[in-house]
Amino acid sequence: MSKVALIRCENYKDVYTAIKRGIDLIGGIEKFVKKEDNILLKPNFLRAKEEKYAVTTNSNVFYAVGKILRDKGYENISYGDSPGTGSALNVSKVCGIDEKARELNIPLKDFSKSKSVFIKENSFAKEFQMAKPVLECDSIINLPKMKTHQLARITGATKNLLGCISGFNKGLCHVKYPNSVEFSKMLVDLMLTLKPKLHILDGVVAMEGNGPGSGTPKKMNVIIISDDPIAVDYCFAKIVDLNPDYVNVIKYAKEIGIFNEDELEIVGDDIDSFIDKDFDVERQKDKKEKWTSVKVFKPFVMKKPYIKQKKCIKCKKCIEACPVPTKAITFVKNRISYNYNKCIRCYCCQEMCPKGAIAVKTPIISKFLSK
Ligand code: SF4
Ligand code: SF4
Repeated sequence: MSKVALIRCENYKDVYTAIKRGIDLIGGIEKFVKKEDNILLKPNFLRAKEEKYAVTTNSNVFYAVGKILRDKGYENISYGDSPGTGSALNVSKVCGIDEKARELNIPLKDFSKSKSVFIKENSFAKEFQMAKPVLECDSIINLPKMKTHQLARITGATKNLLGCISGFNKGLCHVKYPNSVEFSKMLVDLMLTLKPKLHILDGVVAMEGNGPGSGTPKKMNVIIISDDPIAVDYCFAKIVDLNPDYVNVIKYAKEIGIFNEDELEIVGDDIDSFIDKDFDVERQKDKKEKWTSVKVFKPFVMKKPYIKQKKCIKCKKCIEACPVPTKAITFVKNRISYNYNKCIRCYCCQEMCPKGAIAVKTPIISKFLSK
């Protein structure tokens, strides 16, 4: 039985009270982490952006969780993440978490060094290059941000754990698991390997549309808390009126028997009071797998990233982010352009573009097939 707390929070100034209420409703912080544990807080540090853009976990959410732990006498607390681009310290400074962490005396861990972790034979993924602090801590408290995602539809609790993989190895996961189904199976295996103790999703201001890096902030007024990340993602999907079975992470978790919505207990505020049918997220069923598996049909049915040339400042961060060894995005004739034959549609380029100059379009035939 999974228990999840949905808490209304309309303003970040009230987030400490909201998170405390939610944690208490599911059993209190001591139920999930021991006093002597070495605790790692894992926010979303996609890239350096001021918090009003809703790219990163809000600093007030980080502060509230840190303060709840400090108030209860927890001593060994640190935090960290592996951003898609740039240093974690810079992301932390720009989004305001650095200042709050210093106030609570919570140090930032270096995620740049990694260690191979081999996982059990009957799993889908076999190996991860984990950031060392992730392996050295006793308990992870995951602090995801509620955002849309081009490959996985949503990035919530499960997807946020990808940042526990060090540096460019995250990009290589896209090469190894190049479609949404395989990528989501890998994410579930990563979650089962890491076993975070608690997930606290920041949905006070979420991101809709061209997420997870260039979408539009949207007030959703919700904090979702559980020790089950799939339960968090399930509630996220329900709140944005997306069929949870279209989220491959949830679908796979159900297939392997680690999640059952019939056994989900929701406490706190009524889920119906949060539902937003206008939230901009991909809701159509993906019926295109059989077409995309045939090479000749691919260009006509697969979504693809494209450059809004007027917004592009030619910084080339998108090229750096592309995990395809021979690069599916290049700078030629003074402009950025794609080689769609090489492109695996991982959307790392779109996530890392600092100017929102990369959008994603769906071919008309594909829209028709999805009906
Ligand atoms: S990252 Fe964005 S702004 Fe920079 S070159 Fe690429 S498309 Fe242009
Ligand atoms: S061009 Fe963009 S979407 Fe295509 S493989 Fe490279 S990073 Fe991924």
